[in-house]
Amino acid sequence: MKYNILGKIDHAPGRVECVIDAPAPTGTGYQFEGRLAGTIVLVNTGKRIAAYGWLQATVVLNCSRCLRLHNVPLDIVVDEICSLEQIDQVEVGQDSENGICPIPLVDHEVVNLRELVRELLILNIPPRSLCRPDCRGLCPHCGQDLNEGQCKCEEQQVDPRLAPLQKLRQQ
Ligand SMILES: [Zn+2]
Ligand SMILES: [Zn+2]
Repeated sequence: MKYNILGKIDHAPGRVECVIDAPAPTGTGYQFEGRLAGTIVLVNTGKRIAAYGWLQATVVLNCSRCLRLHNVPLDIVVDEICSLEQIDQVEVGQDSENGICPIPLVDHEVVNLRELVRELLILNIPPRSLCRPDCRGLCPHCGQDLNEGQCKCEEQQVDPRLAPLQKLRQQ
């Protein structure tokens, strides 16, 4: 995700538009379906670089109830304050405590948005997700996927107070 910015954002109020059409970066810990789409505009505000725009991706998540893999579209509004760093000065996450994402700059002319995009994706992946709103989940006893049909566990469960009676009956 490299963009040539030569002469565009070295001084305020320079700006450059980066159109994103690329596979998701590795290192997110998640699987993505298809390519990323979006536009990130970088603006030199004098002190920092403002990054704004949008980003769309489709992440593949396990359902929180039945574990089924399903696609979850992400619609991300990009609105970040970044700093341009010479690539040899950047350590990943170095500035993350004060909310400023460093964007690596190579030879004063190429920015790499990979790290920014990776962080945006991770921040916007929901912690819980359902394959469908009314997912019935798995039976806690036998693990059967209840979306595919009821298991026998409920029928077999006998009121413990009646269990001795049932034993007597079987004898
Ligand atoms: Zn589910
Ligand atoms: Zn069951």
